[in-house]
This record gives sequence, structure tokens and C-alpha cells, in this order.
Amino acid sequence: MPGKSACIECTLNLYPPQVNFPLCTIAQTPRLPEHCIEYVRMMQWPAETPFGKDIDGDNPEHIQWIFEKALERGSQYGISGITYRLTQGVVKNIIPAVASTNAVIAAACATEVFKLVSGCAPIMNNYMVFNDADGIYAYTYEQEKKKDCMACSLESQIITLREESTLRELIDFFIESPVYQMRSPGVTMVTAEGRNKTLYMKALREHTEANLSKSLKDLGVREGTEVNVTDVTSLLPCIFKIYFDSPMTS
Ligand SMILES: [Zn+2]
Repeated sequence: MPGKSACIECTLNLYPPQVNFPLCTIAQTPRLPEHCIEYVRMMQWPAETPFGKDIDGDNPEHIQWIFEKALERGSQYGISGITYRLTQGVVKNIIPAVASTNAVIAAACATEVFKLVSGCAPIMNNYMVFNDADGIYAYTYEQEKKKDCMACSLESQIITLREESTLRELIDFFIESPVYQMRSPGVTMVTAEGRNKTLYMKALREHTEANLSKSLKDLGVREGTEVNVTDVTSLLPCIFKIYFDSPMTS
């Protein structure tokens, strides 16, 4: 329920971090099936471009080509376990959905609707784990809203910066931070005089670009000043309260 219960963003820390393999391992000392697939994707495909420059993860011919080359590489290094499905998973960076996954989700949704309509049993509140890798295991619990959730919290978040931090550093931080992963953030603030001031906005680049190299202090940001940050990755603007004198963390 938007605004009431946890949103997807609130639950993101439940997901395992994205796996990246070091290039030297992929190139020189592969140990896993994934290393062989990544090798073909990153080195052999660009060198041989069998079906053009770009890989289409949904094109079976592309996946088949990578799969076969990865098998060859696997056999050179005595690595087994390379399958077509794993190949597609690595190339698309996903766990390929199988029909049974969708069927389980559909069944859970239908069960909830039935409970809502009939009142025959308490409804799920609000998170379900279903595991049928080895036998069947399922349980439900209430996932709580994250107080400082970027997507659904209206509270401001605290951010501490170095005294001399520039606006560009702040913007780069929002882009590079694994927490925010913004693409092209725009930053505004309310000045001590109560005026709205745009510090940077891509659409207003001509007028605001010069601010990027200035320090936040020179731009009028004080201890405890709130800046509004807007970005395509978030529906609502995020409000950050700025403090100085500490390493940049979030
Ligand atoms: Zn949320």
C-alpha cells in the first residue's frame, strides 16, 4: 500500500549484491563456469563479432554462440557446469525465470485475492519467501518501511561532507553511490533569505554549470542546510540535510 507499507526500495538490502568478476580472473585463471561465459562475452564476442557488435540476450543464436564458446573454454580449463540457461543468466545478468516461478507467484496472488474477497483467512502482511530448491519452504512476515527510504520517505536524509566539497563532488557522489545510483541529479536549495536557488540542473546547464567547481560553502550551503535533489531514478525529490567536516558517507 503506497505510503503505508514498505516499497520495493525499502527492501533492496535483502537482495544479494551484484556479482562482478575481476578481469584478470576471467582472462587468466578461470575457476567457475561464469568466468568462462564472461570471457566469451567480454573478449571473444567483441573480437569475432559473430552477429554484429552488440549482444542481444534474448536472441537464442547469440546465446547459443556464447554457450558453445564457453563450453570450449571450460573444457580447456577442466570447468564443468556451463549450461545454456546459465549462459543466458550471466549475459543478461539475471536469474532466468522459469514457468514454474511465474505459476507460483500467480497462485500466491490468486490466493490473496480469494482471502480478501471471502475473508476466510488473514491476508498476507506483506512479504513472502518461497523456496523450492530442495523441498518446499515458505514463510511470510511483515517487511517494515525504511525510515529513510529514498522512494517513499518524506523525511530528509543526513549527509556529511568535507568542508571544501564542491557541488560537482556532491553530484558525483549521488551518481556513484551504490545507494542512490542517480543518473543526472539536479540540486536546488532554499537560501538563508528564503529564496529558491537552483545550484545545478542539466536543463539549465548554461546558467548553472559554473557552480559545479564552486564549493558548497561558497554557494551558500551552511551546516544543516537542506538541499533538494531530483533525478529520473526517483519519483519524489530527495531532501538531504548537509553537514560538514566528516568523510563523505551516506
Ligand atoms: Zn520505501
